[in-house]
Amino acid sequence: MGIDIKTIGKVLQEAGKIELYQQVLEMQAKMNEMQDSNYELKKENRKLKEDLELKNSLEFDHGCYWINRVEDGEETKEGPFCPHCWDKDKVALRMKDLGGGDYHCHECNLYIDIN
Ligand SMILES: [Zn+2]
Repeated sequence: MGIDIKTIGKVLQEAGKIELYQQVLEMQAKMNEMQDSNYELKKENRKLKEDLELKNSLEFDHGCYWINRVEDGEETKEGPFCPHCWDKDKVALRMKDLGGGDYHCHECNLYIDIN
């Protein structure tokens, strides 16, 4: 912005234009509010985009979720992620590998055998 709102306020205050000065202060407060809400909206938007990206890359297979990634032209499958936690809270929680195709979710205590 070319003109600093604080400078305008100062000039008006010094010139004794108290009513205008008050209006400038109110304007500044509103601008701060708008900046805050703009920041919050951007943050929320970023989160939604990330959630959507995650949702689109999740694949349901063998009773749980997997994330398909393509890195250097190679497709890798990450997971499994707990189906219960994702369906309920939209949280992608990696399940613990117990060996032999058995997996456990430490959050909801779900056991899955993917064989
Ligand atoms: Zn779970």
